Amino acid sequence: MAKRDYYEVLGVSKSATAEEIKKAYRKLAIQYHPDKNPDNPEAEEKFKEAAEAYEVLSNPEKRQRYDQFGHQGLGGNGGFGGGGMNMEDIFAQFGDIFGGGGFSSFFGGGGGGRRTKKGTNLRVKLKLNLQEISNGVEKKIKVKRHVVAPGVTFKTCSTCQGTGQVKKVVNTMLGQMVSASTCAVCGGSGQIVDKKPAEADSRGLIIKEEVITINIPGGVAEGMQLSMSGKGNEIPGGIPGDLLIVIEEIEEKTLQRDGNNVIYDLYVSFVDAALGASVEVPTIDGRVKIKIDPGTQSGKMLRLKGKGIKDINGYSRGDQLIMVNVWTPTQLTKEEKQALEALRESPNFKPDPGKSEKSFFDKMKEFF
Ligand SMILES: [Zn+2]
Repeated sequence: MAKRDYYEVLGVSKSATAEEIKKAYRKLAIQYHPDKNPDNPEAEEKFKEAAEAYEVLSNPEKRQRYDQFGHQGLGGNGGFGGGGMNMEDIFAQFGDIFGGGGFSSFFGGGGGGRRTKKGTNLRVKLKLNLQEISNGVEKKIKVKRHVVAPGVTFKTCSTCQGTGQVKKVVNTMLGQMVSASTCAVCGGSGQIVDKKPAEADSRGLIIKEEVITINIPGGVAEGMQLSMSGKGNEIPGGIPGDLLIVIEEIEEKTLQRDGNNVIYDLYVSFVDAALGASVEVPTIDGRVKIKIDPGTQSGKMLRLKGKGIKDINGYSRGDQLIMVNVWTPTQLTKEEKQALEALRESPNFKPDPGKSEKSFFDKMKEFF
């Protein structure tokens, strides 16, 4: 099969700049990436063709030879043996094509075992109070990341010849098998440090403290993990890891979270419960006044609609549920005792549940 012109493959002009070539290739690599086109030989062919074209046109020396002599100038077959580039070579290129982060999510997952190396993830805990959880909040956090030191240069690892893997022939019961393991010298990146500033470690990395701004959406919960792509540790010749933010809820004394609802235990005096009263209760948004009806029983639940926590998937908000507890005095003066004694035999003070009072279980059914 006749080889297509490399400029035509990438869809660029003969005078295209290095940046235009890189951009064109990046677009094609995404379009025909095997992860996006499983079991599609045609896409795989296009993917390989684009990689080969990029390999030549991104190298000034090869490009010049190609411009002058065409495919013949590169050794008949573009210099790629019989079958063009193999997948391993192609993924090895990605370090510099997609370097700089932001791509981990795209190639993550399915890329297992591939040559695109990824830095380690950083994990930080973030404590939030109920108000921050409900409304969402912007937080600035300090993280210490490994970053490639300014001025570091790299060269191809001679132990693995830049492949990042060392192959070993192992004798097993089933005969000889080739096992590939990550190159210990370069850690799988295929590159080792050539020149580096004194403060960088053997991998050419320094630890840098950075302040990172995180926007936490409303409705997060304890243990939830948010991920910021590319904000983890950098790695030479690869893409940076991610920053993982693990949410911790600060426990509040007065308000308790139950899903998207908030529960508050209200204590009212026996007198307020009998006569009715206006009392203040705390909510996520500050204190509000609520009315206690005359004759309110202990165990009654009141609902403040929309005073709970914002749902993480939408705009709705939970409610605040107020559990009314009637406080029985634990000590009384002589006068108080006398006043209450006078009421002891009054028919109105005899408990008479059942007529209008629902049981605790009925109430639970009604509210949840
Ligand atoms: Zn190596």
